[in-house]
Order: sequence, then C-alpha cells, then structure tokens
Amino acid sequence: MTKIVLIIADGLGDRPIAELGYQTPLEAATTPHLDRMAKEGICGQMHTIDVGVRPGSDVAHLHIFGYPMGEAYSGRGVFEVLGVGMDLQRGDIAFRGNLATMEGGKLKDRRAGRMSSSLVIEPGMKVQIEDVTFLLSPAVSHRVGVIMRGPGLTHDILDVDPHNTGEAPRRKLAKDTRKESQKTERVINAFVDHMAAYLCNHPKIKQLKAEGKPHGNFLSLRGAGEHIHLLSFKEKYGLTACCISGAGLYKGVARAVGMDILNVEGATGTLDTNLDAKVKACVEQLPKYDFVFVHMKFADSLAEVGDFKGKKVFIERIDKSLAPLLKMEDTVVFFSGDHSTACSLKAHSGDPVPAVFWGPRTVVRTDACTSFGERACQQGGMGHFKGLDVMQELLNLAGKQHLVGN
Ligand code: ZN
Repeated sequence: MTKIVLIIADGLGDRPIAELGYQTPLEAATTPHLDRMAKEGICGQMHTIDVGVRPGSDVAHLHIFGYPMGEAYSGRGVFEVLGVGMDLQRGDIAFRGNLATMEGGKLKDRRAGRMSSSLVIEPGMKVQIEDVTFLLSPAVSHRVGVIMRGPGLTHDILDVDPHNTGEAPRRKLAKDTRKESQKTERVINAFVDHMAAYLCNHPKIKQLKAEGKPHGNFLSLRGAGEHIHLLSFKEKYGLTACCISGAGLYKGVARAVGMDILNVEGATGTLDTNLDAKVKACVEQLPKYDFVFVHMKFADSLAEVGDFKGKKVFIERIDKSLAPLLKMEDTVVFFSGDHSTACSLKAHSGDPVPAVFWGPRTVVRTDACTSFGERACQQGGMGHFKGLDVMQELLNLAGKQHLVGN
C-alpha cells in the first residue's frame, strides 16, 4: 500500500537577496536531494491560503492538512495547549500564556527573560474564579498553556498582552456589551490578578528578583481560541497518521486533526535540532502509519531575524537529511513550506512557496523542472495550487481517491 510523507520546512520561500546575487536562500543553497525530487517529481507554486495572503503558521498547516480556516480555526491558543499535551473539552477557551516581568504597572519584559515556566507552574495546576476553572500547564521556556472552562464565556475578546513593552496589560478585553463578553472580561481580570499575586509571592520568583535575574511576576494571555471538534485524519481520509515535530504549535495542530505525536530525541525545533533523526524516525514509522507529517522549523526563525546566510545553510541541512527518504519505494512525498518568510521583511510574506510531489516513476508525471527553488518551480506541472489541494493530490497519487459520480 502506498504511503504518504508530508514534509514542511517552515518559512521555506523567500525573496531575491542582493548579497546572494539576487537569488533566494533556497536558490543559493546546494540541494542535490531536492533537485533530484524536482527532476523525478512534479513541481509547482503553492499559495497556502490564497494568492497574496500572508498565512500564519497555524492556519497554513490547517489548510495543507485540508481544513479550511473558516471551519477549523478560532485562535492560536487551541493549538498551543494541545501542543503541550493538555486535553480540551467542547466549549473550552484556550490561550497562549506567557510569563512576563512587570515594573510599576507596565510590562518591562514580555517574556521574563525566557525563564522556565516549569519553575513556578505545576502541571495540572487549577484556579477557580466564580464558576469558571482555569487549568494551567508549563510549556517551553516562558510559555504557559491556559484553558478557561465554564458556562457563558466567549473567545471573541482582546488579548491581555498589549504586545509592546512599556505598556500596561489590557484590562478592557470585551469587544461588545454582550453578557458573555462582560463575564469573560471579569473572570480573566480576576484570574490575572490572582496569578500576579501568586507569582509575586512565589519563593522562586522572590529569589530570582533578589538575584537581579529575569523573573516572571505576571502571566500574560493572548490568542484566545475556542475548541472546535475537527474530523480526524482517519475519519476524513481513512489514514492513520503521525506527526514528527520539535515545536509545540505544530504538534498541537496535528493533535487537533487526530495524528499521533511522536517524540523524537534531539528534535527540538531550534537550530541544534536533529533533522537526520526526524527523517530516520519517519522512515521507521512508515510500516506502521499510512501518513507521516514531518515539520522542520528553523529556516523560518532565521528568516525572521533576517539571517539569509543562516537560512541557506539550514536549507542545506534539510536537503542532506532527506537522503534516506528517497530510497523508499511505494511512497509519495510532498515537500514544501507552510508559507514564505522573507529575510528582507523579517516576516511572513504572501509569496507562493515552491513545492514538489515525488513518488514512484510509474505514478508521478514528471515535468520540465530539474532543480528545486522559487523560480525553478514556476515551470512545474502543478502550476499554481492552494494548500487545500495538497491532500487531494497526495490521495490521488497514493491511489486512495474515491470515484466521484458514476
Ligand atoms: Zn510557519
């Protein structure tokens, strides 16, 4: 039975860079494996959401998995809490929480020096405000998963986090005068006050403060989202699926669509991540699963600080890691990014992402592309396509599409 591998190199696409002779980091990189895939596969340009739209990574992944944002997305918090292993119930509202440092009523450091939240937040911690329960779990560095559970609440509120240092956290959170908006604002403010008192009195925070070190004396909230039950990959496509990712958000999106989460040693989602271990784990899991999703984070992070040389080198590392996959028989591989991240903008851009479908020679119709890159893929046989098309084409190539009509 044909297996499917979907590899996303986060923020893969880019714009031409003068210092690279007007090439992109991907074009400037030496990528023999990706070039081979382009030669043996069928290429194209993916507009993850739509032409010119700048996708966030969460929505981009949902679209690539075949779940349109209008039906599947209400806020990033949902995927953050799923990514740290918290369980959501219908009606729950989830947030990205982060420890922050407050001074004189204003935010001094929105990330509290990236101190480890596990020093002060215990897994399973709960806070009761009126008839609403807040559940907390430590996440990577300063981040904290927060779930708000109770009747008469809404996710349609403003962030507590003002997104700028030197400003006071927001207390006016309701967007309107509806009863649920007012209640949500009231219980969140009480929760934030409770957590500020808890953190200020915590011995670890007192100690860090006394030592002049970054200390999180405030829990900021953002990205409120309401849990929406999504059909699993098994229900939607009939595929058993797993996810290999070092970063929480992507594990969260994968969990939301019912994928098993594999923890691979050395897969960190940071610069020192072990890409070879991820691809090796993918190859090992293929006998067990119909579909394996591999996420590779750091090209995006380098582009977000404008490090085009670092992005080029990281793409070369990605390319090298792909070697074992290209030995697989009866396997269809999709390789692309979730969006472009332009080093010149230090931000996601609405430019399409180069993409390739690779598989057995008797299945994939090759095209004229002989190398993999932004401009090379403009010649590809898949032309322009959207994120929502990816699963359809993968199912087709893997021989798993049902006949439409008679
Ligand atoms: Zn991304």
